[in-house]
Amino acid sequence: MPEGDMLYRRLVEFYEKIEKTTSRIAMTEYLVALFKETPVEVLDKVIYLTQGKLRPDYEGVELGVAEKLTLRAIARAVGVSQGKVEELYKKLGDPGLTAQQLLEKYRAGGLTAFLGGAAVTQPLTVRRVYDSLMKIAKAQGEGSQDVKVNTLVSLLRDAEPIEAKYLVRTVTGRLRLGVADMTILDALAIAFTGKKAARTVLEKAYTKHPDLGYIATVLAREGLDKLKEMKIQVGIPILPMLAERLSDPQEILDKLGGKCLAEYKYDGERVQAHRKGDKVWLFSRRLENITHHYPDVVEYVKRLKSDEFVVEGEVVAVDPNTGDMLPFQELMHRRRKYDVEKAMEEYPVRIYLFDIVYREGEELIELPLPERKKHLSEITAEDDHVRLAVGKIIVNPRDLMLFFEQAISEGCEGLMCKSIGPESIYQMGARGWLWIKFKRDYRMEMTDTVDLVVVGAFYGRGKRAGTYGALLMAAYSPEEDVFKTVCKVGSGFTDEDLAKLPGLLEPYKIDHRHPRVVSKIEADVWFVPAIVLEIIGAEITLSPLHTCCLNSIQEGAGLAIRFPRFTGRYRFDKKPEQATTERELIEMYKSQKKTVLR
Ligand code: ATP
Repeated sequence: MPEGDMLYRRLVEFYEKIEKTTSRIAMTEYLVALFKETPVEVLDKVIYLTQGKLRPDYEGVELGVAEKLTLRAIARAVGVSQGKVEELYKKLGDPGLTAQQLLEKYRAGGLTAFLGGAAVTQPLTVRRVYDSLMKIAKAQGEGSQDVKVNTLVSLLRDAEPIEAKYLVRTVTGRLRLGVADMTILDALAIAFTGKKAARTVLEKAYTKHPDLGYIATVLAREGLDKLKEMKIQVGIPILPMLAERLSDPQEILDKLGGKCLAEYKYDGERVQAHRKGDKVWLFSRRLENITHHYPDVVEYVKRLKSDEFVVEGEVVAVDPNTGDMLPFQELMHRRRKYDVEKAMEEYPVRIYLFDIVYREGEELIELPLPERKKHLSEITAEDDHVRLAVGKIIVNPRDLMLFFEQAISEGCEGLMCKSIGPESIYQMGARGWLWIKFKRDYRMEMTDTVDLVVVGAFYGRGKRAGTYGALLMAAYSPEEDVFKTVCKVGSGFTDEDLAKLPGLLEPYKIDHRHPRVVSKIEADVWFVPAIVLEIIGAEITLSPLHTCCLNSIQEGAGLAIRFPRFTGRYRFDKKPEQATTERELIEMYKSQKKTVLR
């Protein structure tokens, strides 16, 4: 046995024990014994292999060889027909057991006899198994199938039946010993410090550098103190801070000491963005490397005014014409698109930054949130694609409720209420009360269309430059004989509609808000109420931004249409006074179908 290596057979003996046990304590004990006898040079490999992987998840090294290919390799290694292998596999349902049984049966006469006496077999070592599996995982493109099969055949030819069982399960991604990260941390603490208490230090190091192989090697070679000094490293994701959840504004404020920073809770994908000079990495909530999904976000992140940082934000799909946020499903379209370039054009995104944990050599996680926010603002120059999360300091439940409704009506999921006290550090990997999510547990559904009056417009951008990007729409109040705003609509217009709108609205254009229009929103252009359009939306929500039905349902809030869209129907047959009324909207709001969310 070469120095610094270990027999694969020995590892497999531990697998056998772990697989059979039903006790977590026993599982930990087996791991302790395994780690103690593993040479430090292969400790990381032993840990990855035991979890059925080759590298930490964030590196994205995928093993999963197709079953068919594996069966072909088994057939070749044993020297039987593929049909025979497949037949047994059908019976057993496990490619590992299939390999094991075939090896047992066909090598009964001894391996040398089976190979015609010519070959000399080498006992498998951890290093060889690991390197071969890495070669299999990395094989790509033309000829890669042959590389995979040949490498596997070569391993299986030197394997004992019991080793073959685990080898095959590993390559097909079916090892599943169920050894969780936390169990490994426990076992490492006991194996190298003698006490489980050291687990806290290990866990903290793991939240900054979630690579168990690396943690184990540092611990075994340099000891616990070295782990205590560990710093966030650009390019290695940290475990994200998580939020608790409450649904009562008073309770939320009480938990946060009577005062909090309430931030829009954007409905997109959480992204941890790392930058070092020209290199940018993007990691998902689950720490997968998603850099290749968002080449545009990579560019946006490079616009930040610092060369080295780790920031967090939510990537949201936006309407290229109006800049309004789009529902989460739109972002998922983007994920499904094969052609990233095309997807980038069709589904543009914006990143809303909400935290920073590292900047130019300095870890910021121990700083209270207001100070981290200062760092974040310092490096951010907001533009169309990079924004700071919208937030507001809130001290009373009523304002919290109003801000919540504003967030919903603008296309957000709700609010993230964050502590701003001296204790408000960034708690890596922990769900705690420093962040409280405030979202709805239901969704309403707008089932009918409404007829609304165009009272204002906003200049378009992008493809809509030169025409209107969105229209400000209002409902009618017969009691007061005025028009009150309910939404800004920018979706549902065809190119033809867009070309036609400026001409259609031109006769009604005025240089100030019409006296019969009640609006809190400042439009770029105002119109005399005249043109009626048919609009549908996802739901009718409360919103402090709109004046329609203001204070009718809730003090300080009006009604708004969330994700509104023009149906294509111009209601030239209707006078503005025949548009949908405030009262009708209240009825619609009350009778909406309510869907309970998870
Ligand atoms: P969790 O991430 O808490 O396990 P989850 O995956 O179900 O739960 P949510 O309940 O939607 O997610 O809430 C948390 C998520 O909200 C965050 O992970 C982040 O992606 C998102 N988010 C949106 N806006 C913000 C913000 N301003 N601050 C922090 N997180 C935000």
